[in-house]
Amino acid sequence: KPDINSILAQLGIAGYNPSYSTGSKWSHAANGEHIHSMSPVDGQKISSVFAASLEEYDHVISTAQEAYKYWNKVPAPKRGEIVRQFGDALRKQKTALGTLVSYEMGKSLQEGLGEVQEMIDICDFAVGLSRQLYGLTMHSERPNHRMYEQWHPLGVVGIISAFNFPVAVWSWNAALAWVCGNVCVWKPSEKTPITAIACQRIAEDVFAANDIPEGVSNLIIGDAEIGKLLSADTRVPLVSATGSTRMGKAVAMQVANRLGKTILELGGNNAIIISKDADLDMSLIGAVFGAVGTAGQRCTTTRRLIIHESVYETFKAKLVKAYGQLRIGNPLDQNNHVGPLIDKDAVNAYLASIEKCKAEGGKFVVEGGVLEGGEYSSGCYVKPCIAEVENHYEIVQHETFAPILYLMKYNDLEEAIALQNGVPQGLSSAIMTLNLREAEQFLSAQGSDCGIANVNIGTSGAEIGGAFGGEKETGGGRESGSDAWKAYMRRQTNTINYSNTLPLAQGIKFDL
Ligand code: NAD
Repeated sequence: KPDINSILAQLGIAGYNPSYSTGSKWSHAANGEHIHSMSPVDGQKISSVFAASLEEYDHVISTAQEAYKYWNKVPAPKRGEIVRQFGDALRKQKTALGTLVSYEMGKSLQEGLGEVQEMIDICDFAVGLSRQLYGLTMHSERPNHRMYEQWHPLGVVGIISAFNFPVAVWSWNAALAWVCGNVCVWKPSEKTPITAIACQRIAEDVFAANDIPEGVSNLIIGDAEIGKLLSADTRVPLVSATGSTRMGKAVAMQVANRLGKTILELGGNNAIIISKDADLDMSLIGAVFGAVGTAGQRCTTTRRLIIHESVYETFKAKLVKAYGQLRIGNPLDQNNHVGPLIDKDAVNAYLASIEKCKAEGGKFVVEGGVLEGGEYSSGCYVKPCIAEVENHYEIVQHETFAPILYLMKYNDLEEAIALQNGVPQGLSSAIMTLNLREAEQFLSAQGSDCGIANVNIGTSGAEIGGAFGGEKETGGGRESGSDAWKAYMRRQTNTINYSNTLPLAQGIKFDL
């Protein structure tokens, strides 16, 4: 068990119970609903915070609007310099913040530290980007005219994040949004508010050291109600929402109703195709890490294995043996492979999915169950399990956020690709094969329909350099690398006439 009080002190948030922060100003006398942050590691309360009231919400948004007037005038490379300093501040706090992520969310310490590293990486990426943000120039059809496009910031960006990546997802959005000239209002998951407070506290010092006014980085604590306010608010031109498809549909409808913009990063139902030409030992590591890492609570978790019939029994035997060796327990103990689920609701959803799978005809080759007593006293530790199923089962079509792995057989690659694509979600996918033809077919337009398609790598563990996101019920949004920054800006096309006549486009004649 980490010394949580000294970690909170090191992060400068001991005794912080806010409902919001606009930078260096924090609410301390909040009177909203209590939100208790309970660690799934040992069931202990970390701290309590408050849900922001409507008045507090309004105060934060109007502070952000004021800050935007200042921030969009700061040259982009100077904004990048502040993001660079933020990345450095994260480097100094990596161990403390990574440990808090692990303790509040329940992922392994390695993954908690990895999440902070991802924040540092996206800051570095954003710093480079701050000297780019390129627009194109085009050739005008009219003489002595110049045409080009430029990118301007949007204003206040709302960020709604999920519990499973409590800090990295915010930074993917915030680092890019900031260098693009936007200000951010973050509503973290109500299940992981303390890590969010720690991040805002780190940002606070960096912005204050640069004399940046209140309101460039804002945090609002609350549940879905605050998310709904952000979605309906015309003062928030872009809402970036990460979470379940159910939540994404609600946000999409609210924001579309006012013709605002969204970036939606929703649920996945990710599969690995294990070909007859796969390296089975490598495939085993990819499949097991993908299925049980973060206790099956990654959006990119491997939920389905589509295995060629000629290697099915061999691979199944390897999987069963590997699952027998998994160590389940405190995620801060680096000897353990699998930590807890986030809370007892998640445990109940896991148990209900197992029952449903059995009722639909699923055959468990590794049984699940809840672990009790001793180090499992939080009631959140479950056994990773494996079932043989058919792809059309309702439960297989659905994302259960827990370590339940579904196995199915295929005969030819078209069939495997059809199974892989035959779910409502479209986030991450992979094929394990040493056969070039198969790999290329999987990556072609007739192949995987997902936003992420990998060869000889599992479905989880994306790097920040690529655009991250998925299709269909995953929401279609892209964050992080490549040109994902464009979603945080508005494009403006400019045509400049430096002739002494006014020719019209398409040669249209208009004389007075
Ligand atoms: P969730 O949908 O329960 O909550 C996510 C966030 O949305 C929370 O902050 C919550 O308060 C807010 N929210 C809930 N209902 C809302 C509404 N109607 N309007 C506005 N805001 C609302 O999800 P969760 O359980 O925290 O996270 C798990 C889910 O997130 C999984 O489905 C997972 O696949 C998905 N996820 C996706 C990605 C991705 O990049 N595609 C990344 C991480 C997690």
